[in-house]
Amino acid sequence: MAHRHRMRVCAGLTAALLAVSGGHAFAAPNDEMTRDIETAVLGVDAYWEAHWSDFFTETYVPPTVLGEYDGASPNVPTCDGEPLDDDNAVYCSTAEDYVAWDTDLMRFGYAYGDAFVYLVVAHEWGHAIQNRLHAELQTIDGELQADCLAGAELEGAAQDGTVVFESGDVDEVHTALVRDADKTPWTKEGDHGSASERVEAFTLGQELGVEGCLPDEASAEGAAALGR
Ligand SMILES: [Zn+2]
Repeated sequence: MAHRHRMRVCAGLTAALLAVSGGHAFAAPNDEMTRDIETAVLGVDAYWEAHWSDFFTETYVPPTVLGEYDGASPNVPTCDGEPLDDDNAVYCSTAEDYVAWDTDLMRFGYAYGDAFVYLVVAHEWGHAIQNRLHAELQTIDGELQADCLAGAELEGAAQDGTVVFESGDVDEVHTALVRDADKTPWTKEGDHGSASERVEAFTLGQELGVEGCLPDEASAEGAAALGR
């Protein structure tokens, strides 16, 4: 698709969910899911608001939260003039600077496990964080860095008490990442990381925090990274 560099669509996530859902339609909007998404957004924003200055200079500015959209609608929102993908999630890195997720994507994933919506929100927010960093702090593989930042944020938010992990949540996230990478050509191409690389990136973020997601630490872990 055009403008991929401006619109990070995370196709792997969608395929994982479609595989899990078995194509079943879902009924009424899930209020519980909406609350979880709101909690995820508040948690990730609170985490970066509280901890940005632990790692970076300047001031934290959150992305705009466009939130849920209906990718099947004729009135689908656009990024850089291009309509957002159906059943997908996105960080729009133009001056529009927003994160958004298709409601169906979230519903499919939520049926699979509530942790999934936290992963999607944290991952897309991670792309927004990347976009605020100097180039030398971005790793070559933006998807793995976003997975790593998602792990760092969710673990950090859990430690701060703004997000509560339940038993099984981390397994859900790990399984989602594995299925994500397994089910899509996009993740099999090598540039975007294998299943084990994605799980490793998420776990690295959980264990080492944000600094573990930056190139120096990433190099220490053997991942390809730009020099600082
Ligand atoms: Zn992504």
